[in-house]
Amino acid sequence: MADQLDPDCVFCKIVTGAIPATVVRETPATLAFRDINPQAPTHVLVIPKTHYPNAATLAAAEPELAAGLLTEAAAVAADEKIADHGYRMIFNTGAGAGQTVFHAHVHVLGGGDFHEGLV
Ligand code: 5GP
Ligand code: ZN
Repeated sequence: MADQLDPDCVFCKIVTGAIPATVVRETPATLAFRDINPQAPTHVLVIPKTHYPNAATLAAAEPELAAGLLTEAAAVAADEKIADHGYRMIFNTGAGAGQTVFHAHVHVLGGGDFHEGLV
């Protein structure tokens, strides 16, 4: 169980409010906010409010919470009106895959043409 936060983690600091973020959705267990460096017209990150280093460790420890990220990601897509056209959910897992923030998160990307090299 990881109900503690990591004092050195940027996303934990967003959970506590120590670092500001543009929050678009919130549940008791998850937070969705806009990526500071958007790679698409809609680029939102959905995170658990508890610290896990990546999606795999989150899913192993708390599968319901992992599923909650998907539910919230879909709700973000609906809110942002990108669901009908189509969007991407991306979990970078490990530095070799481009993960730079080691707090589990799913990227919700949409509003552009993925055939033109978006992300
Ligand atoms: P990763 O590469 O780990 O999958 O994605 C991390 C994402 O977090 C990047 O897209 C990056 O732009 C975003 N990010 C990093 N620091 C911050 C921050 O302080 N605020 C916000 N809103 N996004 C951040
Ligand atoms: Zn964290």
